[in-house]
Amino acid sequence: MKFDLAYCLGLDDKLSIYDVRDLNFDETVAFDSAKEHFQCPNDACRSAFEASNELGTFNAKNVNYVRTPHFKNLPTTQHVAGCPYVSLKTPGSGVEASDGEGDGGPEEHFPSELLLTRREYVRKPAAPNVEADVLRDDPVRVAGVSAKESASRETAPDKTSVFAHPVECFVSNFADKELLKRMPLKVGEHTAPYGSFFKKIEYLLDNKGLIYWGKIKEIKDYTQSFRIDFEQKVWFKQADEAKKKPYSVNVYLSKKLIDNYRKRKAFLEEIKHAIDSDKELFCFFYGVTPELKQVPSKKNPEQTFGVFSVNIENLDHFIVREAPGLA
Ligand SMILES: [Zn+2]
Repeated sequence: MKFDLAYCLGLDDKLSIYDVRDLNFDETVAFDSAKEHFQCPNDACRSAFEASNELGTFNAKNVNYVRTPHFKNLPTTQHVAGCPYVSLKTPGSGVEASDGEGDGGPEEHFPSELLLTRREYVRKPAAPNVEADVLRDDPVRVAGVSAKESASRETAPDKTSVFAHPVECFVSNFADKELLKRMPLKVGEHTAPYGSFFKKIEYLLDNKGLIYWGKIKEIKDYTQSFRIDFEQKVWFKQADEAKKKPYSVNVYLSKKLIDNYRKRKAFLEEIKHAIDSDKELFCFFYGVTPELKQVPSKKNPEQTFGVFSVNIENLDHFIVREAPGLA
């Protein structure tokens, strides 16, 4: 079992490790997880110890990760008896001693919904606030200051606004088809099990509004944009044709869109790393569906050929990453 959330002292709120990553890379907010303090998400446990009783992070700042990011107990971390998080790798048992196996394992916390509106974080005033000790109807949720009460309600622990979280669930549990069939995911108006909400790019004609993914063949760096070509093709029969023909699929990323992105540096690092990488890479995106377009042929400009293509509109819902096991 992994920590689903951790209490962030500076924000006086509970965050997932994916929230933490999003904040770390966001150039519009002052946040550095290495300087923040994270504690056990169990309110009773947290209040029983000094503020120095902290949790650590794994892969909180690494743009291109392979192993699942998470919060972890430090050798000094204490929990009260009965804290549900006490069973996580007992400090001193030696299990967590190496940075190896103890940090492995797939993502266990499947968000039931990807919220399309970004979560807002309010930093706690510098002067220590009176701890809101009135627990609301839901003891799991932090009793925050009233101003952000409504925001907290929409970010219940099983929802996320960070695309990387459901993607990590899918990637790290890819071998467990039954699990992916069982866990539901809602995005926008559409609900489906993880296993079918994530749609292979070659089957994009089957259904709209899904998360499409595929292996990357090549990334082209143009003046105005990047073009990502997928390895698999879409088989499609035009009205005037007798049988299906294969069509290439690609997505375009506008450089202007990237320049105005709040996570510009991290995004460019992700793309540059992908261009230079000799590893197998996969692309995941939500919000747009490639459509058949006729584009002029380079060799013979009078001729056109068909390709399934689309412009990515929201970089928050786009990821290029390694995903061992998906090949
Ligand atoms: Zn605890």
